[in-house]
Amino acid sequence: MSAPEESGVVIVGASIAGITCAQALRSEGYDKRITLVGAEKHLPYNRPPLSKQVLAGKWNENQTFIDSQEKFDELGFQFYLEESALSVDVAAQEVRTDSRKLRFDELIIATGASARSLPNTANFKRVHVLRNIDDALSLRQSLDKAKSAVVIGAGVLGSEVVSNLRERGIETVLIDRMPEPQLPLTGGHFSSRINALLEENHVKTKFGVDVVAVSEDESKITFTLSDGSTIDGDIAVVAIGCYPNTDWLRDSGIDVSNGILCDSKGLATPHIFAIGDVARWTDVASGKAMRLENQTSAIEQGLAVAKFIATGDITPASHPFFWSEIFGNKILMLGNLDSQLPLTIVQGSTSENRFVAATIRDGVTTGIVGWNMPREFRQTRSMMEK
Ligand SMILES: Cc1cc2nc3c(=O)[nH]c(=O)nc-3n(C[C@H](O)[C@H](O)[C@H](O)COP(=O)(O)OP(=O)(O)OC[C@H]3O[C@@H](n4cnc5c(N)ncnc54)[C@H](O)[C@@H]3O)c2cc1C
Repeated sequence: MSAPEESGVVIVGASIAGITCAQALRSEGYDKRITLVGAEKHLPYNRPPLSKQVLAGKWNENQTFIDSQEKFDELGFQFYLEESALSVDVAAQEVRTDSRKLRFDELIIATGASARSLPNTANFKRVHVLRNIDDALSLRQSLDKAKSAVVIGAGVLGSEVVSNLRERGIETVLIDRMPEPQLPLTGGHFSSRINALLEENHVKTKFGVDVVAVSEDESKITFTLSDGSTIDGDIAVVAIGCYPNTDWLRDSGIDVSNGILCDSKGLATPHIFAIGDVARWTDVASGKAMRLENQTSAIEQGLAVAKFIATGDITPASHPFFWSEIFGNKILMLGNLDSQLPLTIVQGSTSENRFVAATIRDGVTTGIVGWNMPREFRQTRSMMEK
């Protein structure tokens, strides 16, 4: 192991949150060393297209890359790819990777999250998860041969995968322990709409059941469910959420319970920030800390931390936001829809399958959704500021 190198900002995790922060540091005028350590072999890329354009075969993996090596060289970034951070010494301001020690003035932890899978299936050839480029390419290859599939998890990722499988004509069964499909932040308001889409698109569903056993052989994978039934498929996709990549911080003294606990500007402890899927920022208004697993939050947190480090300015918190595309429907969601409140239609109509809707409590909008109305959704966003 070599001696510690010159300090500056060290960013662990070379994905959307980390690279956004690095780029923003430069645009905010930060001129010291910026080092990015990334466990994957790839330069930073976008994950959202993996379950959409890449899985559908419309994009190749190169189209997901955020920028070229040349652009990053111009910004003077030092990348250490295929290298994992193993620990951090908070007092000494030093990160140890599997190849070196890196001293830092400020450390930014952007190690994201890993896909959860089902217990005891790690060596199963027919079981896929979808978190990185390699997962997407391997799944896409299996889909080229599959006639039937079982998808576990009816959240946003599972729903996107199912819609992709059906477009390919693959017979699909969707299983979830919840009684209904769930999109994040929507307070359950769209469960019946998603259910209707599943039915229209001939997806078999098994909701409110647990997987109790899984086996695979030469020809199929079989799930035994808690209601006693069994479901077979050529392949399975497990989309049951993810867990924050904090194992390497286990002995650091940093609070890593369900992600790295941070204040409202992303500071976990002096000189150490966390951003993106791995971070649990505290909301000033509610005092609650939440992990937001979406691309926009990862970008916004990266921008906010860069600004704070470079200028000392604090960026006001914004509302959580996600988008998705399920069976051709473009869904945009800002804030949180309140499950206890009725949906107010702001534009369009549900019967036309094009609308902008909100939940409003005492004159305050808690969340807005755009369903096949992206332009109108953007025009309506200001409702959240009132
Ligand atoms: C298939 C898919 C589709 C998605 N679609 C949408 C969407 O439509 N809309 C939306 O808003 N969001 C979507 N998301 C979520 C979005 O991609 C994430 O919120 C975003 O990638 C989080 O970025 P991040 O940089 O925090 O973490 P990640 O993108 O998870 O990156 C973390 C990086 O850190 C690396 N790392 C981990 N541990 C270490 C270590 N010890 N040392 C060095 N490197 C390490 C990892 O290998 C990884 O490269 C999707 C996610 C997936 C997987």
